[in-house]
Amino acid sequence: MNKNPYEVLGVARNATDDEIKKAYHKLVMKYHPDRNQGDKDAEEKFKEVNNAFDILKDPQKRAAYDRFGDAAFAGGNASGANPFGAGANPFGNGAFHFNMGGGAGMDDILREAMRGFGFDMGGGPTRGADARRGRDLLDEVAIDLRDAYFGTTHTVKFTTNVECDKCNGFGTADGKQAPKCSRCNGTGYVRAARGFFAMETPCPDCNGTGHKIDKKCSQCDGNGVLRKTRTLDVKIPAGIEDGTRLRLGGQGEAGQNGAPAGDFYLDVRIRPDKRFERDGADLITRVDVPFTTLALGGEIEVDTIDDKKLSVKVPAGTQVGEKLRVRGHGMPTRRPGGFGDLYIDINMPVPTKLTEKQKKLLAEFAGTKSAKKGWF
Ligand SMILES: [Zn+2]
Ligand SMILES: [Zn+2]
Repeated sequence: MNKNPYEVLGVARNATDDEIKKAYHKLVMKYHPDRNQGDKDAEEKFKEVNNAFDILKDPQKRAAYDRFGDAAFAGGNASGANPFGAGANPFGNGAFHFNMGGGAGMDDILREAMRGFGFDMGGGPTRGADARRGRDLLDEVAIDLRDAYFGTTHTVKFTTNVECDKCNGFGTADGKQAPKCSRCNGTGYVRAARGFFAMETPCPDCNGTGHKIDKKCSQCDGNGVLRKTRTLDVKIPAGIEDGTRLRLGGQGEAGQNGAPAGDFYLDVRIRPDKRFERDGADLITRVDVPFTTLALGGEIEVDTIDDKKLSVKVPAGTQVGEKLRVRGHGMPTRRPGGFGDLYIDINMPVPTKLTEKQKKLLAEFAGTKSAKKGWF
Protein backbone atom coordinates (compact mmCIF):
# COMPACT_ATOMS: atom_id res chain seq x y z
CA MET A 1 0.00 0.00 0.00
CA ASN A 2 1.20 3.50 -0.75
CA LYS A 3 1.49 5.95 2.07
CA ASN A 4 -0.51 9.13 1.77
CA PRO A 5 1.57 11.03 -0.80
CA TYR A 6 0.72 14.41 0.72
CA GLU A 7 2.07 13.25 4.08
CA VAL A 8 5.16 11.71 2.52
CA LEU A 9 6.08 14.98 0.81
CA GLY A 10 4.88 17.07 3.77
CA VAL A 11 2.60 19.27 1.69
CA ALA A 12 -1.00 20.41 2.09
CA ARG A 13 -3.87 18.79 0.17
CA ASN A 14 -4.22 21.96 -1.89
CA ALA A 15 -0.48 22.42 -2.49
CA THR A 16 0.49 23.94 -5.83
CA ASP A 17 2.59 22.05 -8.34
CA ASP A 18 5.51 24.29 -7.48
CA GLU A 19 5.23 23.53 -3.76
CA ILE A 20 5.09 19.82 -4.57
CA LYS A 21 8.13 20.02 -6.83
CA LYS A 22 10.12 21.92 -4.22
CA ALA A 23 9.23 19.49 -1.44
CA TYR A 24 10.13 16.57 -3.69
CA HIS A 25 13.49 17.97 -4.71
CA LYS A 26 14.42 18.63 -1.09
CA LEU A 27 13.51 15.11 0.05
CA VAL A 28 14.92 13.27 -2.91
CA MET A 29 18.29 14.95 -2.37
CA LYS A 30 18.17 14.05 1.30
CA TYR A 31 17.40 10.35 0.77
CA HIS A 32 19.29 9.77 -2.46
CA PRO A 33 21.12 6.37 -2.39
CA ASP A 34 24.37 8.06 -3.44
CA ARG A 35 24.36 9.97 -0.17
CA ASN A 36 23.06 7.12 1.98
CA GLN A 37 25.01 4.11 0.85
CA GLY A 38 23.63 0.96 2.43
CA ASP A 39 21.07 2.81 4.57
CA LYS A 40 17.89 0.73 4.26
CA ASP A 41 15.65 3.37 5.90
CA ALA A 42 16.85 6.04 3.48
CA GLU A 43 16.33 3.65 0.59
CA GLU A 44 12.75 3.03 1.72
CA LYS A 45 12.11 6.77 2.18
CA PHE A 46 13.62 7.45 -1.24
CA LYS A 47 11.14 5.01 -2.78
CA GLU A 48 8.21 6.50 -0.84
CA VAL A 49 9.13 10.02 -1.88
CA ASN A 50 9.37 8.99 -5.53
CA ASN A 51 6.09 7.12 -5.38
CA ALA A 52 4.39 10.10 -3.79
CA PHE A 53 5.77 12.53 -6.34
CA ASP A 54 4.85 10.23 -9.17
CA ILE A 55 1.25 10.54 -8.08
CA LEU A 56 1.16 14.23 -7.21
CA LYS A 57 3.11 15.56 -10.18
CA ASP A 58 0.62 14.06 -12.57
CA PRO A 59 -2.71 15.93 -12.57
CA GLN A 60 -4.64 12.81 -13.56
CA LYS A 61 -3.05 10.58 -10.96
CA ARG A 62 -3.43 13.28 -8.33
CA ALA A 63 -7.10 13.72 -9.18
CA ALA A 64 -7.58 9.96 -9.09
CA TYR A 65 -5.89 9.77 -5.70
CA ASP A 66 -8.03 12.63 -4.36
CA ARG A 67 -11.16 10.85 -5.51
CA PHE A 68 -10.39 7.20 -4.89
CA GLY A 69 -7.45 7.24 -2.51
CA ASP A 70 -5.25 4.20 -2.65
CA ALA A 71 -7.96 2.19 -4.41
CA ALA A 72 -6.99 4.02 -7.60
CA PHE A 73 -3.60 2.36 -7.38
CA ALA A 74 -4.56 -1.03 -6.00
CA GLY A 75 -2.41 -3.66 -7.61
CA GLY A 76 -0.78 -1.11 -9.82
CA ASN A 77 1.68 0.65 -7.59
CA ALA A 78 4.33 -1.99 -8.14
CA SER A 79 4.51 -0.98 -11.78
CA GLY A 80 5.12 2.48 -13.19
CA ALA A 81 4.69 4.29 -9.88
CA ASN A 82 8.31 3.99 -8.80
CA PRO A 83 10.47 6.01 -11.16
CA PHE A 84 13.61 4.38 -9.84
CA GLY A 85 12.40 0.82 -10.24
CA ALA A 86 15.65 -0.25 -11.81
CA GLY A 87 17.70 0.95 -8.88
CA ALA A 88 15.46 -0.71 -6.37
CA ASN A 89 15.66 -4.07 -8.07
CA PRO A 90 18.88 -4.06 -10.02
CA PHE A 91 18.98 -7.78 -10.64
CA GLY A 92 15.48 -8.35 -11.90
CA ASN A 93 15.14 -7.81 -15.57
CA GLY A 94 13.28 -4.67 -14.59
CA ALA A 95 11.11 -4.41 -17.61
CA PHE A 96 7.81 -5.66 -16.40
CA HIS A 97 4.58 -4.45 -17.85
CA PHE A 98 1.35 -4.23 -16.02
CA ASN A 99 -1.54 -5.72 -17.88
CA MET A 100 -5.05 -5.40 -16.53
CA GLY A 101 -6.48 -7.82 -19.07
CA GLY A 102 -10.01 -7.05 -20.13
CA GLY A 103 -10.83 -5.01 -17.05
CA ALA A 104 -14.41 -6.19 -17.30
CA GLY A 105 -16.74 -4.85 -14.66
CA MET A 106 -14.38 -2.12 -13.63
CA ASP A 107 -15.87 1.27 -13.02
CA ASP A 108 -15.56 3.32 -16.18
CA ILE A 109 -14.14 6.32 -14.41
CA LEU A 110 -11.50 4.18 -12.79
CA ARG A 111 -10.69 2.59 -16.15
CA GLU A 112 -10.19 6.02 -17.60
CA ALA A 113 -8.02 7.00 -14.66
CA MET A 114 -5.93 3.85 -15.13
CA ARG A 115 -5.48 4.73 -18.80
CA GLY A 116 -4.04 8.00 -17.65
CA PHE A 117 -1.35 6.09 -15.76
CA GLY A 118 -0.22 4.40 -18.93
CA PHE A 119 -1.44 0.98 -17.90
CA ASP A 120 -2.27 -1.35 -20.71
CA MET A 121 -5.90 -2.27 -20.28
CA GLY A 122 -5.77 -4.63 -23.20
CA GLY A 123 -8.11 -4.80 -26.14
CA GLY A 124 -9.28 -1.22 -26.48
CA PRO A 125 -8.01 1.38 -28.91
CA THR A 126 -5.22 3.70 -27.88
CA ARG A 127 -6.76 7.04 -27.26
CA GLY A 128 -6.89 10.17 -25.17
CA ALA A 129 -4.46 10.28 -22.30
CA ASP A 130 -2.73 7.09 -23.42
CA ALA A 131 -1.62 8.59 -26.68
CA ARG A 132 0.13 11.50 -24.99
CA ARG A 133 2.34 9.48 -22.68
CA GLY A 134 5.98 10.00 -23.57
CA ARG A 135 7.66 7.23 -25.53
CA ASP A 136 9.95 4.72 -23.90
CA LEU A 137 13.59 4.96 -24.89
CA LEU A 138 15.98 2.04 -25.27
CA ASP A 139 19.75 2.02 -25.33
CA GLU A 140 22.28 -0.79 -25.36
CA VAL A 141 25.76 -1.09 -23.89
CA ALA A 142 28.46 -3.76 -23.88
CA ILE A 143 30.69 -3.85 -20.79
CA ASP A 144 33.68 -5.92 -19.72
CA LEU A 145 33.30 -8.74 -17.22
CA ARG A 146 35.53 -6.80 -14.84
CA ASP A 147 33.08 -3.85 -14.97
CA ALA A 148 30.25 -6.29 -14.30
CA TYR A 149 32.20 -7.45 -11.24
CA PHE A 150 32.71 -3.98 -9.78
CA GLY A 151 29.61 -2.27 -11.18
CA THR A 152 29.92 0.79 -13.37
CA THR A 153 28.11 3.83 -14.69
CA HIS A 154 27.01 4.23 -18.29
CA THR A 155 26.47 7.79 -19.44
CA VAL A 156 23.98 8.27 -22.25
CA LYS A 157 23.51 11.46 -24.19
CA PHE A 158 20.41 11.73 -26.31
CA THR A 159 18.03 14.26 -27.78
CA THR A 160 14.46 13.83 -26.70
CA ASN A 161 11.30 15.61 -25.63
CA VAL A 162 11.64 17.15 -22.19
CA GLU A 163 8.96 18.89 -20.17
CA CYS A 164 8.75 22.60 -21.00
CA ASP A 165 9.93 24.46 -17.93
CA LYS A 166 8.01 27.60 -18.78
CA CYS A 167 4.55 26.01 -18.66
CA ASN A 168 5.31 22.97 -16.43
CA GLY A 169 4.46 20.78 -19.38
CA PHE A 170 0.86 21.98 -19.69
CA GLY A 171 1.43 23.99 -22.86
CA THR A 172 -0.49 26.95 -21.45
CA ALA A 173 0.59 30.57 -21.22
CA ASP A 174 -0.13 30.64 -17.47
CA GLY A 175 1.61 27.32 -16.77
CA LYS A 176 -1.51 25.70 -15.34
CA GLN A 177 -3.49 22.82 -16.72
CA ALA A 178 -5.92 23.96 -19.38
CA PRO A 179 -9.64 23.46 -18.68
CA LYS A 180 -11.38 20.31 -19.86
CA CYS A 181 -12.27 20.24 -23.52
CA SER A 182 -16.05 20.64 -23.74
CA ARG A 183 -16.44 18.78 -27.04
CA CYS A 184 -15.04 15.49 -25.75
CA ASN A 185 -15.66 16.17 -22.06
CA GLY A 186 -11.94 15.70 -21.37
CA THR A 187 -11.75 12.16 -22.71
CA GLY A 188 -9.72 13.18 -25.77
CA TYR A 189 -11.81 11.17 -28.22
CA VAL A 190 -15.15 11.48 -29.99
CA ARG A 191 -17.47 8.89 -31.45
CA ALA A 192 -18.21 8.98 -35.14
CA ALA A 193 -20.50 6.65 -37.08
CA ARG A 194 -18.76 4.80 -39.91
CA GLY A 195 -21.21 2.53 -41.64
CA PHE A 196 -22.25 -0.08 -39.09
CA PHE A 197 -19.51 0.82 -36.68
CA ALA A 198 -19.13 3.55 -34.14
CA MET A 199 -15.48 4.58 -34.31
CA GLU A 200 -13.59 6.51 -31.71
CA THR A 201 -11.30 9.16 -33.14
CA PRO A 202 -9.09 11.76 -31.48
CA CYS A 203 -11.06 14.88 -30.59
CA PRO A 204 -10.34 17.57 -33.23
CA ASP A 205 -10.88 20.43 -30.77
CA CYS A 206 -8.13 19.34 -28.34
CA ASN A 207 -6.11 16.99 -30.60
CA GLY A 208 -6.90 14.13 -28.28
CA THR A 209 -5.42 15.74 -25.21
CA GLY A 210 -8.71 16.26 -23.39
CA HIS A 211 -7.74 19.83 -22.53
CA LYS A 212 -8.43 22.87 -24.68
CA ILE A 213 -5.64 25.42 -24.55
CA ASP A 214 -6.81 28.98 -25.18
CA LYS A 215 -3.48 30.79 -24.79
CA LYS A 216 -0.49 28.68 -25.78
CA CYS A 217 2.87 28.76 -24.04
CA SER A 218 5.23 30.83 -26.19
CA GLN A 219 8.23 28.59 -25.51
CA CYS A 220 6.77 25.25 -26.62
CA ASP A 221 3.88 26.45 -28.78
CA GLY A 222 1.40 24.59 -26.61
CA ASN A 223 3.02 21.16 -26.86
CA GLY A 224 4.22 21.15 -23.28
CA VAL A 225 7.50 19.63 -24.43
CA LEU A 226 10.76 20.83 -26.00
CA ARG A 227 13.50 19.00 -27.89
CA LYS A 228 16.61 18.96 -25.78
CA THR A 229 19.81 17.00 -25.38
CA ARG A 230 19.86 15.16 -22.11
CA THR A 231 22.58 13.31 -20.27
CA LEU A 232 21.66 10.35 -18.13
CA ASP A 233 23.99 8.44 -15.83
CA VAL A 234 22.78 4.87 -15.61
CA LYS A 235 24.16 2.90 -12.69
CA ILE A 236 25.03 -0.66 -13.63
CA PRO A 237 25.05 -2.71 -10.43
CA ALA A 238 27.90 -5.04 -9.46
CA GLY A 239 27.17 -8.64 -10.43
CA ILE A 240 24.86 -7.73 -13.33
CA GLU A 241 24.14 -10.60 -15.68
CA ASP A 242 24.48 -10.60 -19.45
CA GLY A 243 21.25 -9.58 -21.14
CA THR A 244 19.79 -7.67 -18.18
CA ARG A 245 17.41 -4.87 -19.05
CA LEU A 246 17.59 -1.98 -16.59
CA ARG A 247 14.58 0.30 -16.31
CA LEU A 248 14.63 3.92 -15.24
CA GLY A 249 10.98 4.81 -14.81
CA GLY A 250 9.96 8.26 -15.99
CA GLN A 251 13.34 8.94 -17.62
CA GLY A 252 12.11 8.46 -21.17
CA GLU A 253 10.49 10.99 -23.42
CA ALA A 254 8.34 13.59 -21.67
CA GLY A 255 4.58 13.24 -22.18
CA GLN A 256 2.66 15.97 -23.92
CA ASN A 257 0.43 18.38 -22.03
CA GLY A 258 1.39 17.10 -18.62
CA ALA A 259 0.97 13.38 -19.46
CA PRO A 260 3.41 10.95 -17.81
CA ALA A 261 6.89 10.53 -19.23
CA GLY A 262 7.97 7.25 -20.80
CA ASP A 263 10.62 5.02 -19.28
CA PHE A 264 14.27 4.62 -20.15
CA TYR A 265 15.62 1.12 -20.70
CA LEU A 266 19.21 0.01 -20.95
CA ASP A 267 20.10 -3.44 -22.28
CA VAL A 268 23.40 -4.56 -20.80
CA ARG A 269 25.61 -7.08 -22.58
CA ILE A 270 28.83 -8.48 -21.18
CA ARG A 271 31.77 -9.07 -23.52
CA PRO A 272 33.50 -12.47 -23.30
CA ASP A 273 36.61 -12.36 -21.14
CA LYS A 274 39.94 -13.89 -22.15
CA ARG A 275 40.80 -15.21 -18.70
CA PHE A 276 37.48 -15.91 -17.01
CA GLU A 277 34.44 -17.82 -18.11
CA ARG A 278 31.26 -17.09 -16.20
CA ASP A 279 28.78 -19.65 -14.97
CA GLY A 280 26.08 -17.82 -13.03
CA ALA A 281 27.87 -16.36 -10.03
CA ASP A 282 30.89 -18.64 -10.47
CA LEU A 283 33.99 -17.99 -12.55
CA ILE A 284 36.19 -20.55 -14.23
CA THR A 285 39.83 -19.88 -15.11
CA ARG A 286 42.25 -22.23 -16.86
CA VAL A 287 45.69 -22.48 -15.28
CA ASP A 288 48.82 -24.27 -16.54
CA VAL A 289 50.39 -26.36 -13.77
CA PRO A 290 53.69 -28.26 -14.08
CA PHE A 291 53.46 -32.07 -14.08
CA THR A 292 55.69 -32.25 -11.03
CA THR A 293 53.39 -29.99 -8.99
CA LEU A 294 50.38 -32.11 -9.92
CA ALA A 295 52.21 -35.30 -9.01
CA LEU A 296 53.92 -34.14 -5.84
CA GLY A 297 51.52 -31.42 -4.70
CA GLY A 298 52.45 -27.78 -4.19
CA GLU A 299 51.23 -24.23 -4.59
CA ILE A 300 50.28 -22.19 -7.64
CA GLU A 301 49.58 -18.49 -8.13
CA VAL A 302 46.22 -17.57 -9.67
CA ASP A 303 44.96 -14.18 -10.95
CA THR A 304 41.51 -13.12 -9.75
CA ILE A 305 38.97 -10.91 -11.56
CA ASP A 306 39.53 -8.15 -9.00
CA ASP A 307 43.24 -7.92 -9.87
CA LYS A 308 44.56 -9.91 -6.93
CA LYS A 309 46.93 -12.85 -6.86
CA LEU A 310 45.88 -15.92 -4.93
CA SER A 311 48.13 -18.66 -3.67
CA VAL A 312 46.29 -21.95 -4.12
CA LYS A 313 47.29 -25.36 -2.75
CA VAL A 314 47.39 -28.17 -5.30
CA PRO A 315 46.99 -31.60 -3.67
CA ALA A 316 49.37 -34.35 -4.76
CA GLY A 317 47.84 -36.47 -7.51
CA THR A 318 45.64 -33.73 -9.01
CA GLN A 319 44.55 -34.67 -12.52
CA VAL A 320 44.41 -32.57 -15.69
CA GLY A 321 40.85 -31.33 -16.16
CA GLU A 322 40.11 -31.41 -12.45
CA LYS A 323 38.70 -28.20 -11.03
CA LEU A 324 39.93 -26.72 -7.78
CA ARG A 325 37.40 -24.52 -6.01
CA VAL A 326 38.35 -21.29 -4.29
CA ARG A 327 35.38 -20.00 -2.34
CA GLY A 328 34.20 -16.40 -2.59
CA HIS A 329 36.32 -15.30 -5.56
CA GLY A 330 33.54 -15.43 -8.15
CA MET A 331 31.06 -12.71 -9.13
CA PRO A 332 28.96 -10.73 -6.62
CA THR A 333 25.57 -12.38 -6.03
CA ARG A 334 22.12 -10.98 -5.34
CA ARG A 335 22.66 -11.57 -1.64
CA PRO A 336 24.38 -8.44 -0.27
CA GLY A 337 28.03 -9.19 0.37
CA GLY A 338 27.71 -12.59 -1.31
CA PHE A 339 30.08 -13.90 -3.97
CA GLY A 340 30.24 -16.97 -6.15
CA ASP A 341 33.29 -19.23 -6.32
CA LEU A 342 36.33 -19.37 -8.55
CA TYR A 343 37.08 -22.71 -10.20
CA ILE A 344 40.61 -23.43 -11.37
CA ASP A 345 40.54 -25.62 -14.43
CA ILE A 346 43.81 -27.59 -14.29
CA ASN A 347 45.81 -27.75 -17.49
CA MET A 348 49.25 -29.36 -17.91
CA PRO A 349 51.61 -28.35 -20.69
CA VAL A 350 53.94 -31.15 -21.73
CA PRO A 351 57.57 -29.97 -21.56
CA THR A 352 59.24 -29.71 -24.97
CA LYS A 353 62.64 -28.26 -24.08
CA LEU A 354 64.30 -30.73 -21.74
CA THR A 355 67.96 -30.65 -20.71
CA GLU A 356 70.00 -33.85 -20.91
CA LYS A 357 69.79 -34.15 -17.15
CA GLN A 358 66.00 -33.80 -17.13
CA LYS A 359 65.69 -36.38 -19.91
CA LYS A 360 67.82 -38.78 -17.92
CA LEU A 361 65.76 -38.28 -14.78
CA LEU A 362 62.49 -38.83 -16.66
CA ALA A 363 63.86 -41.93 -18.38
CA GLU A 364 64.97 -43.23 -15.02
CA PHE A 365 61.48 -42.55 -13.65
CA ALA A 366 59.87 -44.28 -16.63
CA GLY A 367 62.02 -47.31 -15.93
CA THR A 368 60.79 -47.75 -12.38
CA LYS A 369 58.49 -50.63 -11.61
CA SER A 370 55.29 -48.66 -10.86
CA ALA A 371 55.81 -46.35 -13.83
CA LYS A 372 56.08 -49.33 -16.18
CA LYS A 373 52.68 -50.55 -14.97
CA GLY A 374 51.14 -47.24 -16.01
CA TRP A 375 52.31 -44.89 -13.24
CA PHE A 376 49.13 -44.93 -11.30
ZN1 LIG B 1 -11.59 17.41 -26.89
ZN1 LIG C 1 5.68 25.51 -22.62
